[in-house]
Order: sequence, then C-alpha cells, then structure tokens
Amino acid sequence: MYDVAIIGTGAAGISAALTLKQLNKNFIWFGSDNLSFKINKAEKIRNYPGLIGVSGEEMRDVFKKQIKEMGIEITNKMVTGVYKGDDKYSILCGNDDAIEAKTVILTTGVLINKPIKGEVEAVGSGVSYCATCDGFLYKDKEIAVYSESKEYDHEVSYLASLASKVYFFCNYKDSNVSNSNVIFMDDKMQEIKPGLKQKTVITKKGEEIKVNGIFILKSSYSPSVLVPGIEELDNHIKVTRKMETNMKGLFAAGDCTGRPYQYAKAVGEGNVAAHSVVEYLALNK
Ligand SMILES: Cc1cc2nc3c(=O)[nH]c(=O)nc-3n(C[C@H](O)[C@H](O)[C@H](O)COP(=O)(O)OP(=O)(O)OC[C@H]3O[C@@H](n4cnc5c(N)ncnc54)[C@H](O)[C@@H]3O)c2cc1C
Repeated sequence: MYDVAIIGTGAAGISAALTLKQLNKNFIWFGSDNLSFKINKAEKIRNYPGLIGVSGEEMRDVFKKQIKEMGIEITNKMVTGVYKGDDKYSILCGNDDAIEAKTVILTTGVLINKPIKGEVEAVGSGVSYCATCDGFLYKDKEIAVYSESKEYDHEVSYLASLASKVYFFCNYKDSNVSNSNVIFMDDKMQEIKPGLKQKTVITKKGEEIKVNGIFILKSSYSPSVLVPGIEELDNHIKVTRKMETNMKGLFAAGDCTGRPYQYAKAVGEGNVAAHSVVEYLALNK
C-alpha cells in the first residue's frame, strides 16, 4: 500500500510530488506525462517567481526536467473514482485493479467546461466517464459520445467497435476517428435526460436523440463525482488552511480548492498538502 496517492499533474501536483519525494515518502502519482493542459497553454507567464517571462511550454519543460532529475515517475492514467475505506483509500483507473493508499492529495484543477445540463445527475445511470469500464455494456447498441480532446480518439474508436451507432459530439478539430458507424454531429450536446432504457440527448439546435448510453470523455470531473462524500463550497473542494478536506486522510490543493487560479497559489497549496500528509501519517501509524 502507498503512503500517498497524488491525483493530477499540474502545478499543485508537481509541488506535492517534489515535497513528498524530498521527505522520502512512498507515493504514486496519477496524471499525464505531458503534465497539464493549463501549464502548456499559457502564452507568457510574468508572475511566477524565478522564471522570467517564460511561455507555458518553457515552464512545462523546466518542470519535466526537475521531475526527471528527482527520479519521480508519473502513472499516465485518469483516475475514475476514489473510495474511502476504514483507514485507506481505493483508487480506480477504469477497470484496472484498485490501487490502495493511506492518504490522497487531489490536485485535479477545475473543469474548463461546465458539466452538460443533467450530466452529473445521470452519472452511473446512463452516463459514463470511462469507455474501457462500461463500453461492453453497449455492444450492438446506440450511444452518444462527447469528447473534449483528441487524446480520447482511441476511446471513441473503441466504443465504435462495440456499439452499433455512435453520435459523436466532437469538441475539437482534426479528430482521427474514422469508424463507419460514427456520425460526427454538427451541433452541441446541450442537455441529457435520463430514462429507464433510453436516454435522450438534446442538442443546441433542439434535436432530441434517443440512445442507450452516453459517454463523456474529458480531462477533469466534478470532485463529488470523483470522490463520493467530498464536501464542496461554491463548486470547489472545501479545505482548511492545512488543505484538509472533510474526509480524514484526503487533502486537496490548487485550482480545485478555489480562486485565484494561479501557479504560485497551486504550488504553495501543493507544498502545504504534502506537509499535512506527512503530519497525518505520523499521527496515524
Ligand atoms: C491560458 C492560461 C494562461 C494562464 N496564465 C497564468 C499566468 O500567467 N500566471 C498564473 O499564475 N496562472 C496562469 N494560469 C492559471 C494556471 O494555469 C493554473 O492556476 C494552474 O495550472 C493550476 O494548477 P493545478 O495543479 O491546480 O491544476 P491544473 O494545472 O489544471 O492541473 C490539473 C491536473 O489534474 C489532471 N487531472 C484532473 N482530473 C484527473 C483525474 N481524474 N485523474 C488523473 N489526473 C487528473 C489534469 O489532467 C491536469 O494534469 C493560466 C491558465 C491558462 C489556461
């Protein structure tokens, strides 16, 4: 069992990982080898101490170099659920075996796009975030898929290999998906309505599409969907000054805890969360 699982590879996660490595803790770190979309996209960063007027890509390269030099590894996987046990957490990535950790630091950032109307309420009853976990449920059935990044193209193709028809709401340019049963929708997914067997997708233009299941593929989930039982305040994770959440052994840092959305704040909170984890582990041996 790991001492800590860090979820998210943005500025907050990087700071937590560097501090835990320095403090010799046994941790696993989930996210992306490419770190964070938000780090990479910044045009010029002028308010981060020590790096003068760098682009997001330059900052990412410095972070990557530092992670490599510290000998830290990233587990390149999306976490789909974090579940509390008596004195540990089970972390699920799709249908892989659960990973266990005594504590968790959430550094998952904030959702770029608001959830689709009806999405959060329908998770688990017709809406899925995980193609590999739930795709098999829709063999020879009709589904709708919303994707916000090209990095999920292989998941869309996988779903198309199972389903009879895929209504694809592709929120980016140049998708590589080419399965013949995929219909690229020239419209937006506006609302999801649950139903016992059939679910309805209502598009921005007002079309109603009946499907058996709906997949939403994106890089960040609402905290309460990822971690059942977590307390939120104004759409962010509620934390103390020690970055503790309402759940024992679960900490959070960075944009996911609230504004201002800034690198320096994320880095500071990641550092505090790592120190709080170490204190918690010492008190709960
Ligand atoms: C265009 C742009 C320019 C900016 N310019 C500046 C600036 O000049 N100065 C400044 O201070 N700030 C700037 N910011 C804000 C800054 O990027 C954020 O405040 C910062 O990245 C927050 O870091 P974070 O670690 O909290 O979250 P993020 O950087 O959003 O990282 C979250 C990470 O968690 C991962 N993740 C989410 N869910 C899961 C999951 N379930 N499983 C695994 N991984 C998951 C994501 O893939 C991502 O890697 C800018 C932001 C943008 C978009």
